[in-house]
Amino acid sequence: MITKKGISASPGVAIGPALVLDTEEYRIPRRTITAAEAPAQVRVLDAALEASRQEISDLREAAARKLGEQTADIFRFHEALIADKTLRAAVTALIEQQHYSAAYAFVQEMSKRQRVFRAVPDPYLKERVRDLVDIEKRVLRHILGRAREDITKLSEPVVIVAHDIMPSTALQLDREHILAFATNVGGQTSHTAIIARGLGIPAVVALNDLTADVSGGETVIIDGMHGIVVANPDAETVARYEAQRDQHKRQTLELRGIRDLPSVTRDKTAIRLLSNIELADETRNALDSGAEGVGLYRTEFLFLASERVPTEDQQYEAFRAAVRHARGKSVVIRTVDLGADKLMASMGPQHDQNPDLGLRSLRFCLQHLDMFKTHLRAILRAAAEGDVRVMFPMITTLLELRQAKATLNDVMEDLEEDGVPFRRDIPIGIMVETPAAALLASSFAKEVAFMSIGTNDLTQYTLAVDRANERVAYLYSPHNPAVLKLIREVVQAANKAQVAVNLCGEMAGEPLYCELLVGLGLRQLSMAPKDIPEVKRIVRSTTIKRCEAVARKVMRFDGERQVHNFLHKSLEELRREHRA
Ligand code: PEP
Ligand code: MG
Repeated sequence: MITKKGISASPGVAIGPALVLDTEEYRIPRRTITAAEAPAQVRVLDAALEASRQEISDLREAAARKLGEQTADIFRFHEALIADKTLRAAVTALIEQQHYSAAYAFVQEMSKRQRVFRAVPDPYLKERVRDLVDIEKRVLRHILGRAREDITKLSEPVVIVAHDIMPSTALQLDREHILAFATNVGGQTSHTAIIARGLGIPAVVALNDLTADVSGGETVIIDGMHGIVVANPDAETVARYEAQRDQHKRQTLELRGIRDLPSVTRDKTAIRLLSNIELADETRNALDSGAEGVGLYRTEFLFLASERVPTEDQQYEAFRAAVRHARGKSVVIRTVDLGADKLMASMGPQHDQNPDLGLRSLRFCLQHLDMFKTHLRAILRAAAEGDVRVMFPMITTLLELRQAKATLNDVMEDLEEDGVPFRRDIPIGIMVETPAAALLASSFAKEVAFMSIGTNDLTQYTLAVDRANERVAYLYSPHNPAVLKLIREVVQAANKAQVAVNLCGEMAGEPLYCELLVGLGLRQLSMAPKDIPEVKRIVRSTTIKRCEAVARKVMRFDGERQVHNFLHKSLEELRREHRA
């Protein structure tokens, strides 16, 4: 029995057989084959090399058409690397002489080549390591093609164990049969964690080398509440966790009962609870959990789910589906927030040293206007069908907001010219998720209809802590007084300007923060559907007066530990009183 402690990413308990996914770095386990299997493995290798070559050639042609020959050169370089006869010869030798599987042999050879490139002093050649990694992933995808497809059709419930789960992979999973996730890396607000919460399945991240301890097939326990994973548990441990799992299920059912009750404090102030969704069909689940609308539709997941950028009609269909499922309730569609840990293959290689500070999100859109305009057309068309609002993410300057609005205006004119129905007076809002936007909230408030505080990024940028890096996760806390001051600043600025303000970071769904956020003046919170019942229970047990007292007290602290301890005690007290 092995017990490991990681970071809790989504609550609940699951027990089941492990399915180990190939890691994003494709650290393929050493697998040997019999001599008789070698020719078949060489054929697998050849087919994968050919398929990759074809893919790259298509990409090169598309890049040349869209971006010019110079950009297409990068793919020419990739083609040359794949066509290199010494590469095939070296990998074939490993298969035939060492009896390695095609995947393992390929990884071995590519790692060797990467080491050589890394060792050279020439910075240009050093950079080429990225191209080798890219090729390694591409070819492996073809070698492991069948294994990858399998995750979309599982025959039994499994616990997914992986180095990391890319959002695009998570979206391909056969959701019916996934019991839980456990990953080596990641933080509480990494997108994998967000997906797990969206799916309502337990998850633990930041388990270091869990994939080295679990080979697949053995029983694992995922305790999402405490961030614990147990591999090969003994019978007594299984029994203990089975009891916990059943209790968690009972509590979830109990909370369902609160769904149709209004979200108002005891002194009758309404707190609008909205839902964050990643995919259009989650809207139904959101409404079923008691959401009064969609506060954040993360449209980039539609992009991540496909190899290529979705067409205008594909996007329109998805947005329209969300609007229809919302049955008249509001849907805030956030423009596509790609970059950082949400990457599409078709975005091309990433050159940013610090992707979170690089060309991500709205910045990327403003530099890829064709794609952005297509996206906005789809949103505006869907807006003709219901209460849709559009929101721009990652705003740092007023100029960016104005550029985004000007682009939206251009798109409206195009639609008008084309005689396509759309909504002209669509409310425009921004995410406040950089300290710059928070500090200038009063200026932004003059130019938008609403603001939504994205504490996942706001915390990362205020504290200079990568939200998905487990090594600095101990520093990542949205209740750090510096972050709280920025939140207060935004809420005050918005309230003064009479602009609606929402908070849609993960902190909105965390019961610990509910009274504090209401006390700071928030009257709208947007969260994963599964968090709504518990947050509503707190709203219904408290009063504005009590929340304001909590906020006043918290804002006097200058250490996050004090904040945490106080909020913890305060919530316990509220729950005790409410039960009494
Ligand atoms: C945020 O940053 O708080 C947010 C809601 O956006 P995302 O988590 O998608 O970056
Ligand atoms: Mg964000």
